[in-house]
Amino acid sequence: MNLILMGLPGAGKGTQAERIVAKYGLPHISTGDMFRSAIKEGTELGKQAKSYIDAGELVPDHVTVGIVRERLGKADCRGGFLLDGFPRTTAQAEALDDLLAETDRRIDAVLYINVDRDRLMERLTGRRVCGQCGATYHIKLNPPKQEGVCDKCGGELTHRKDDRPETVKTRLEVNEQQQQPLLDFYKAKGCLKEIDGNQPIDDVFASIENILGSLSA
Ligand code: ADP
Ligand code: AMP
Repeated sequence: MNLILMGLPGAGKGTQAERIVAKYGLPHISTGDMFRSAIKEGTELGKQAKSYIDAGELVPDHVTVGIVRERLGKADCRGGFLLDGFPRTTAQAEALDDLLAETDRRIDAVLYINVDRDRLMERLTGRRVCGQCGATYHIKLNPPKQEGVCDKCGGELTHRKDDRPETVKTRLEVNEQQQQPLLDFYKAKGCLKEIDGNQPIDDVFASIENILGSLSA
């Protein structure tokens, strides 16, 4: 299965990706995670991406498409993959189609997690992420057993710099502007699957399992 997880920042893509990966064993390709590790490691890519990420803007398409092209060319993606946070513009979606076509592949489904706009600010400002394994929590909506400590690996939980209210506002605006044309793009292809992301985490996952079950049937 070649899958895309779509939704505005805070919709629950990373949270559901953890569960999808655990059940279906697909490689999880999050462009946001890739940029954050590049910044941590101080690579050239990290230097290129940092100012955009800190400002809540999108990293230019040619940079983002370049890293996805390289990642999808790796052997572990031959049997399927889960893209998270990519594509975010129609130019990226078109580039993705082209690069998959080169190896005779295509997207099977776009899982669009739709959440009411007014919940997203709370979800993002309360988000905490494990610095060690990347697991995602929320101080109120999905708290760890022990404050500040990851349930899965004992790592320290951190607050992303771009989850501060002033940056979140820009991120939501920028992503909202790009989202509708992308949804139209995948709807026209007949592979868009909409999921109600306002439900509790387990119920969102159950909806995803239903869709994926019918795909492979
Ligand atoms: P995204 O990857 O789409 O930006 P995340 O998966 O990181 O979003 O989720 C954003 C925040 O919302 C996290 O703190 C997460 O724990 C919380 N969250 C995710 N899904 C739900 C849900 N269905 N209900 C309540 N909180 C959720
Ligand atoms: P995320 O972790 O998905 O919320 O992404 C964090 C940040 O990384 C975004 O606010 C963008 O600055 C950048 N980013 C991630 N994915 C993309 C993408 N597909 N296109 C452009 N910028 C991206």
